[in-house]
Amino acid sequence: VPLEKAAKGKLQKQICQVVLDHFEKQYTAELGDAWSRVRDVLTSPWCWQHAVLLNRFSPSPGLESSLAGQGYHPAFPAALPYLPAAFRCYSRAAPGRFPAQKHQPGRLKEYYLLNAASLLPVLALEVKDGERVLDLCAAPGGKSVAVLQCACPGYFHCNEYDDLRSRWLEQTIESFIPDPVINLITVSKLDGRQIGDLQPEFYDKVLVDAPCSNDRSWLFSADPQRAVLRLMQRKELSCLQFQLLRSAVEALRPGGSLVYSTCTLSRAENSDVINLILSSCSNVVPVDISGMARGVSQEFTFLSGMQQHELLVLPEKGRAWGPIVLWSWFFSS
Ligand code: SAM
Repeated sequence: VPLEKAAKGKLQKQICQVVLDHFEKQYTAELGDAWSRVRDVLTSPWCWQHAVLLNRFSPSPGLESSLAGQGYHPAFPAALPYLPAAFRCYSRAAPGRFPAQKHQPGRLKEYYLLNAASLLPVLALEVKDGERVLDLCAAPGGKSVAVLQCACPGYFHCNEYDDLRSRWLEQTIESFIPDPVINLITVSKLDGRQIGDLQPEFYDKVLVDAPCSNDRSWLFSADPQRAVLRLMQRKELSCLQFQLLRSAVEALRPGGSLVYSTCTLSRAENSDVINLILSSCSNVVPVDISGMARGVSQEFTFLSGMQQHELLVLPEKGRAWGPIVLWSWFFSS
């Protein structure tokens, strides 16, 4: 049996019908026609793509030519004004996965495999050398690693509440970041909702990559009973997201900026949370990120009709990135 056919058969069986039915109802109402195109990609894992983010701290001589030989090209146009010179990420339209590198103590990895759209929140944050940066919900650490490909913060706080995932985060950082840069990083296991009180007005930049209903992985829940429970508890996520976001705003210094992102299409976890924050914090000012969207429109499909400070990446065949939703603001005094 051809490999792709075998993979297709195996993966198709794993779709969790109760989740698909729930999404079908909700997202048809929220996204209209766009949902059926997104559904086709999300339910076809053999079409999924992976991008390869190179680790500037562990350059590998033959890697870029090997990627080019396999049809990979730079995922982001080099001319984009917010793209740091050292930042290298490759993607290709064809599905399939570049081999992952195993964790080997004492040895840095050369690249990180990820959904290319998950880099957009990091790029929108525009971290500069020397800044104080907080990654409020950081495990497994993909965006923390990406931040460090863009700049060298003066202080970088990576937080993860869950014990197990926090260890995973530590391992990711050890695998990608060498001395002395690693000494700029503090990993904590705090409830992100408390950081605003603990470190008020401290950070130049805060990333809130919030816990959310992860549309891609929920569709493949192995345990339907657990999936039903998760769907029932979905409403509680909006409350957690709002509290995390409020804490993040409190942790920002006046003039600092913040990006909120999720990997769900759910309005309750996106624009509803944002609208609640905007109505409860008068000193939060939206940042226009439409220029970034125009700059990367070759690689990503965005939902049209969004405001200038919000982006929603819709997965499409051949550009199967997302779903990722992001917002950007700065905090005025
Ligand atoms: N930013 C990560 C990356 O790019 O690799 C992914 C983050 S994931 C979407 C959200 C994370 O938030 C999960 O690891 C989850 O355990 C964590 N989390 C959940 N509740 C939290 C809380 N109250 N405070 C901090 N982190 C929390």
